[in-house]
Amino acid sequence: MPELEVQPTGLLYEGKAKSVYTTADQNELLVVYRDDMTAFNGGKHDIIANKGHLNARACKLFMTMLEEAGVATHFIRMVSETSMLVRKLHMIPLEIIVRNIAAGSLIVRYPFVEGQPLEPPTVTFDYKSDERGDPMIIPEFILALGIATAEELTLMRKTALQINTILKAFFDQSGIMLVDFKLEFGRSNGAIYLGDEISMDSMRLWDKETHESFDKDVYRLGKGDVIHAYTTLLDRILPLERRSS
Ligand code: 5GP
Repeated sequence: MPELEVQPTGLLYEGKAKSVYTTADQNELLVVYRDDMTAFNGGKHDIIANKGHLNARACKLFMTMLEEAGVATHFIRMVSETSMLVRKLHMIPLEIIVRNIAAGSLIVRYPFVEGQPLEPPTVTFDYKSDERGDPMIIPEFILALGIATAEELTLMRKTALQINTILKAFFDQSGIMLVDFKLEFGRSNGAIYLGDEISMDSMRLWDKETHESFDKDVYRLGKGDVIHAYTTLLDRILPLERRSS
């Protein structure tokens, strides 16, 4: 790891693409974006140079944009090109999936046609469990399992739709469709914050005209050079960064 201005004091958690370190401040963690790329629950794995940097850069942009719009996120600041200081959260083991257009697991599991608009957008929950394959979970099961309260579910759903409105409008300016994305939330001092990441690894983004993908599907489905796709996306959206802030 390069010399950082915030020193990690211990490895807390090694995820598939990020490592999370404790710091001298017990309320703050250091998240390092690695160059590991995985798909199909770790079934496909590669090290792809520069991927960590590109996703960290994108995540910083989205988290900052959302904070400015009033969404509480864990993001504090960048520490290096691949690492960020974040608020320590107690993560809720749910993936909140927002969809504007049918794609991915939706068209495998249900008779939607790829590219079919979903109006209004849908919000669903997946239970985070590698051994169970992250199954979709209904709110009643979430409550019965004590994973989150009814109030927390309402807040996460409302915040997810607010994030969708903000990001959809942002991408629209550069001719990109926000197809779907995944969010994770956590608790700190009784409040709910957006945690984990928002990046090309956790979204589907298509060119409005050609439907070319600029997201992890390029890797998942072997559709070409994923670094080229991520770089092309950033080249298209980063010029809008200053205007959005
Ligand atoms: P799907 O359910 O179609 O596989 O995924 C829906 C959206 O959520 C996609 O944008 C996908 O990238 C994201 N997503 C779903 N599960 C995960 C996950 O475990 N990790 C990440 N990074 N994104 C996910």
